[in-house]
Amino acid sequence: MTLVDSAQTIQYVEALLLKMNLNSKVLSVQQCEGGFINYVWRVHLSQTTQFIPSHPSVSTIIIKSSASHLKYQPNVYFSTTRSDFEAQALSYCAELRHTDDRQNKWKFITPVLLFSDEVNHIIIMEDVGECNTNLEEWVKSTSLLKDTNHQLNLTSSLGSEFGPFLAHIHFKSKNDLNRMKLNLDCIEFLKGFAFDPVESLAIEAGVNDHRLAPAVQEQYDTLFGAHVNNGHSHFGFIVGDLWPNSFLMSLHSSNLNSCAIIDWEFSGPGNILTDIGIFLFWIWMLSTHESDTVLSKLYQCLAKSFFASYSSHHTLSDGDLLVIKKHFGIMLFGESQPWIHRWCKESCNAKSTLCSCQVSMRLHATNLLVEENLEKNKPPINFFL
Ligand SMILES: [Zn+2]
Repeated sequence: MTLVDSAQTIQYVEALLLKMNLNSKVLSVQQCEGGFINYVWRVHLSQTTQFIPSHPSVSTIIIKSSASHLKYQPNVYFSTTRSDFEAQALSYCAELRHTDDRQNKWKFITPVLLFSDEVNHIIIMEDVGECNTNLEEWVKSTSLLKDTNHQLNLTSSLGSEFGPFLAHIHFKSKNDLNRMKLNLDCIEFLKGFAFDPVESLAIEAGVNDHRLAPAVQEQYDTLFGAHVNNGHSHFGFIVGDLWPNSFLMSLHSSNLNSCAIIDWEFSGPGNILTDIGIFLFWIWMLSTHESDTVLSKLYQCLAKSFFASYSSHHTLSDGDLLVIKKHFGIMLFGESQPWIHRWCKESCNAKSTLCSCQVSMRLHATNLLVEENLEKNKPPINFFL
């Protein structure tokens, strides 16, 4: 979190609020880190303000502004319609309120949408927690708890309660999906960002496998193509970007832990295997790159408890497991891009060019994409199954 409450920034945010007919004075503005796509600020107001009748007055808000480029890569175009989809998702999740009595340790929430400005692509949301941490930090802090059983119980309760919550978001909406637009701009962006570069990334790493291009195309068609439609059993309302920074979790302070799911710009009707594949991929990466065995085991526990609980709500076939495995391949290619070195071995010092870690990631990713055999007792499937 960076403090940016210069007089200029405060003036800018006050002008923004005024534009929306909100005559609120601003005490301070902080830039929220973690997002690479949008400009996000936490704003402390000088007095509590009620934005919508159904929500109590608040003294802090989150403002998200979507420009027509990426925050961290201003030369990359990205449609501003993503903020409309985020607004749609937040309103929709509020309708879907999850009421599962079996939930006993976790409360899953989504931020309440307080205001959306479709002309300026700005949304104002409830602040779901200034002191909260993302999923990666939460698992790390859990690994520091003294009692090993407590660590495992807490982590597996998160996974086994998040599974039904996600299935609820995915399928409760089935009858409403007709009236929702597909998030085509985000799908197009993902295609350009994650699918299209695969072949050239592979060639750059010396991989020349004729099966790769058709495998990538098939994976794209399965998740985003024309045959993802309302008749398909896996068609549901998806989050679209379920990585660790999309979770804002309370630390171990109370009996009821809360977990807010944020950043819904990639959401919309789609194939639910997208969410499952992205979520499990990130947990797998964190686990397999972790030298602390306790922590690594906690990630695996999270993945297994999540997958078991999700698939007890919605049956997943061997074919689905193969789609998930292939999505690991797509994502792994994405994480091997030249400017990402976070997965490099400690011994790697080639941090500016293509290094041997990235080459081996791309070889592995290729195998995940082209190999049609599904060995359930082997990685990555045995990581979560
Ligand atoms: Zn490296």
